[in-house]
Amino acid sequence: MNLTDSVETLKGIGPKTAETLKKVNIKTVRDFFYNLPRDYENYQAATTIAEVKPGKIVVKGKIEKLNLIRAKRRNFSIVEGLIRDETGTIKVVWFNQTYRMNQFAPDKEYLFSGTYEFRNGRFQLTSPSSALYADVDPGSGLSPVYVAHGKLKSGDFRRLLDGARDKFAEIPDLLPTVEAGTRKEALFKAHFPTSGEAVKEARDYLAYEELFELILASRLNQQENDKLKAVPLKFEAEKIRDFVARLPFKLTNAQRKAAWEIFQDMEKPRPMNRLLQGDVGSGKTMVAALAAYEAVLSRGQVAIIAPTAILASQHYEGIGPLLGKFGVKTALLTSATKDKLGLKKQIVNNGVDIVIGTHAILTDDTEFANLSLVIIDEQHRFGVEQRQKLALKSPSGVAPHLLAMTATPIPRSLQLTIFGDLDISILDELPKGRQPIETKILPEINISEKLYPKILETVKKGQQVYWICKAIDTTGEVPDGFESGKDLTSVKTRTRKLKEVFPKLRVEFLHGKMKPAEKDAVMTNFANGEIDILVSTTVVEVGVDVPNATLIVIENAEGYGLAQLHQLRGRVGRGLVKSDCFLLTSGDDKPSKRLQELEKSTDGFYLAEVDLKLRGPGEIYGALQHGALDLRIASLSDTRLISRAKKDAEEFLKLGDKMAEYKELMAGISKYQQITTLN
Ligand code: ADP
Ligand code: MG
Repeated sequence: MNLTDSVETLKGIGPKTAETLKKVNIKTVRDFFYNLPRDYENYQAATTIAEVKPGKIVVKGKIEKLNLIRAKRRNFSIVEGLIRDETGTIKVVWFNQTYRMNQFAPDKEYLFSGTYEFRNGRFQLTSPSSALYADVDPGSGLSPVYVAHGKLKSGDFRRLLDGARDKFAEIPDLLPTVEAGTRKEALFKAHFPTSGEAVKEARDYLAYEELFELILASRLNQQENDKLKAVPLKFEAEKIRDFVARLPFKLTNAQRKAAWEIFQDMEKPRPMNRLLQGDVGSGKTMVAALAAYEAVLSRGQVAIIAPTAILASQHYEGIGPLLGKFGVKTALLTSATKDKLGLKKQIVNNGVDIVIGTHAILTDDTEFANLSLVIIDEQHRFGVEQRQKLALKSPSGVAPHLLAMTATPIPRSLQLTIFGDLDISILDELPKGRQPIETKILPEINISEKLYPKILETVKKGQQVYWICKAIDTTGEVPDGFESGKDLTSVKTRTRKLKEVFPKLRVEFLHGKMKPAEKDAVMTNFANGEIDILVSTTVVEVGVDVPNATLIVIENAEGYGLAQLHQLRGRVGRGLVKSDCFLLTSGDDKPSKRLQELEKSTDGFYLAEVDLKLRGPGEIYGALQHGALDLRIASLSDTRLISRAKKDAEEFLKLGDKMAEYKELMAGISKYQQITTLN
């Protein structure tokens, strides 16, 4: 058996099953073994049916009288029947699980775990999980639960794995230094647990494996970066001091320190690889301007890359005039630029010092005479290939220095592992005079009473309002986290409603499907105070700066991640007056922990730690970056495992060229390298 073989080579997996598995990315034998249980159902506490009481129960029995009832509502079905043991029967009901009709053999015993409750005038067991009694380990009572994929339900995975039981023995180890057992044992225990302890051992081992890979990837990135050459840029103390002295405000200490760290990096003959982290409003742009000026003073060119055209224009308007006073030539290059060819000619002839634009600068044919610094706003990720592309854009062939900026703080535990190859500067201080943002969770039904008066008051004071919606309209694609479009109030519907409620106010909308020129026009009007309420999707999420906006309403707040909510909220509180944020919830459920935390704190670093705990790193970085970082097992708060993996990875690095002999490991790592690196 080879781990890279197709799953089809396993006994019991025919072409049809293989095809289904392929659709969910289970292609090889390795993928198959690593499709780990999502959870374990514990059937230990089974009682007889005669003993059943309302609440959480586990019973063992045979199924009879199954019936499929289709409701009038489309896409809704009920399967109901009886569970019988030697002491009696209880009613069982499943909603929208039609496959239950064909799941049970009448003569076999099954275990059921779920809630026994009074519903629709009778007692019933509602949508219990189930397992074939013979499949469940009698000692532990544990049964693994797999994520269902289309036709393949959890039980099907159990059966397929059972068929491959004897193949586990052939699984080779992945890692060189194995202290805590072997991979084959760990995987076997994960799929066929004999105790809670065994489950923990399995997870620990597999988490260790994962951490080892991550840390190794990050260390290899560092080594590769060290091999690259860059043009050292001399620190021009005198000129920088003069620039700072003429700013309309004093730099914060954090800004000074970050700039200092950057200047020191750029003086070296190898490329800077630095991430500037700072909460929304902490003044990252000013630090970027300082770095850019420094590069220009050494006759280098700078590219500043923003995630959207709106942001690029804003940077252009902010940085252009500021540095223009010192003779620096800045240009904006986006899809809306009129004479693109002319501008590109100027750039390649060194007629422009700083080019500000979107990612298009990296991918199109723009060439630089002497690109020495690249600044990327609101993005962590920057692939190896992209930096190579940049080096090619400069005839000198050396790699530019790199500064990435983000308002999404990376929790310390992640810094040690995934982003270990990055140097990090932190702006942990807001400019003086910032007012706090008051955040309130508000059920949507209360908006006319609690929110509308606030909006009127805000606009009367000459201030402006953002109103964020999840969807553009109700017909399009349904965003993640929502069952259907009808649960959402869209940008268009909300705009219409607000115009009805406030006929005298100027209400406009903004969304990502509008033409760039239309978007820019709306954003410019808003920035100029010609719009009172801007109803928008999250296109305003990153970086947009309108200090006169002091109220933000986030509709369907439950549908966003914590980091994103924090980002959105940061659109206000940028001026000198107190701002407010309303988080609208649609149901009458208790607000999630996420929203409660957001209500309590405005500290981005604290919220990032909370988010990491609540959702896990995969979720956070999956959503944040283009490539999903799929940490399936490891908890990055497990410092014991991390330090062990770190030590062992360092040891492994000493093998040098011999590392290549660990083919599977090295192949897996190049995948991680793509995701985590900035170089
Ligand atoms: P972010 O870190 O979110 O990108 P910005 O760079 O957009 O923040 O800065 C937010 C606002 O704060 C801008 O209007 C900027 O001019 C202002 N600002 C930056 N640094 C300072 C400072 N040291 N003192 C006062 N205001 C500052
Ligand atoms: Mg910014």
